[in-house]
Amino acid sequence: MKKALVLGAGGFIGAHLVTRLKSEGFWVRGVDIKFPPYNETNADDFLIGDLRDPLTCSMAVDQNFDEVYQLAADMGGAGFIFVGTNDYDIMHNSAQINLNVIEACRKRNLKRIFYSSSACIYPEYNQLDPENPECSEESAYPAAPDSEYGWEKLFSERLYLTVARNKGIDVRVARYHNIFGPEGSWNNGREKAPAAICRKVASAESGGEIEIWGDGLQTRSFLYVDECVEATLRLMRSNFSGPVNIGSDEMISINDLAKMVINISNKDIKIKNIPGPTGVRGRNSENSLFEEKLGWRVSDSLEDGIHKTYPWILKQVQEYGDFDKDV
Ligand code: NAD
Repeated sequence: MKKALVLGAGGFIGAHLVTRLKSEGFWVRGVDIKFPPYNETNADDFLIGDLRDPLTCSMAVDQNFDEVYQLAADMGGAGFIFVGTNDYDIMHNSAQINLNVIEACRKRNLKRIFYSSSACIYPEYNQLDPENPECSEESAYPAAPDSEYGWEKLFSERLYLTVARNKGIDVRVARYHNIFGPEGSWNNGREKAPAAICRKVASAESGGEIEIWGDGLQTRSFLYVDECVEATLRLMRSNFSGPVNIGSDEMISINDLAKMVINISNKDIKIKNIPGPTGVRGRNSENSLFEEKLGWRVSDSLEDGIHKTYPWILKQVQEYGDFDKDV
């Protein structure tokens, strides 16, 4: 039986990835500082531990694994990574995790590691025009990410590429662009735009209004989590190391995303734009490289994904109310 190790298995994408690997017949070990908050883990073995600690990493990597996925990071949406007060934690915690994980894998002679980088590594100067952002893989340099989160991801990408170059371990590096779906953060200060907007709409009375950070003309693209997992597995099992974008190229303004959610909710709700952290003006996934190297493209529409996500968040709001349930 093939074995997979998922680091960050208590998180949003990690938990979905574990479920998928189990459905493929893998024996799966998950590692995280917490269990998945919304559902039982499907992992065969789940190690609760802090990956900033090298000993935890050695315990996690105590045997051979056919596939290792490194998704653990101190991360969140705009309200977490763009406010400034979390910068040290973001850089220090995630860099420490990556340094320890890679060393533990190297010592164990593991064959291949997947690393989840981010679209946040792309330079701010290429993302000033909301209608025409440039996010092709080669545009990453000269580097100028607009957040410390992006700088740490860029550092760690390079770290993984050095272990491949110098130590003979295969790496696969993906730059995720805004992944969304059920069972992700929705109310703990780490939620991203789709979840935050779904929560605001689910909590609002028909006839009321919701607040959207910024003028709402900033653009993004959003990829549904099942497609993210599919693309991740395809990259992992390919002979292409990346870095490569994994995202959707269906770009939308944040106000239009809010209108889409409102429409799906069947409520009459107005949008009120207020000052808030927004990140770059425009961002869209450029998918030519993934399509060329992997021969596959994402196909789910944003609207289909919101149709699957809104009901889950509505249920959370109805069950727990619109407050932080300390997840
Ligand atoms: P998430 O926050 O839900 O999952 C990350 C997990 O890492 C969490 O469960 C957290 O508890 C765990 N973690 C943090 N510090 C840890 C530590 N010291 N020891 C053990 N576990 C620790 O995030 P996600 O959305 O599932 O993202 C997964 C990966 O993909 C992350 O590396 C993230 O930076 C990257 N990424 C995600 C997106 C997105 O839109 N979700 C976009 C770009 C990149």
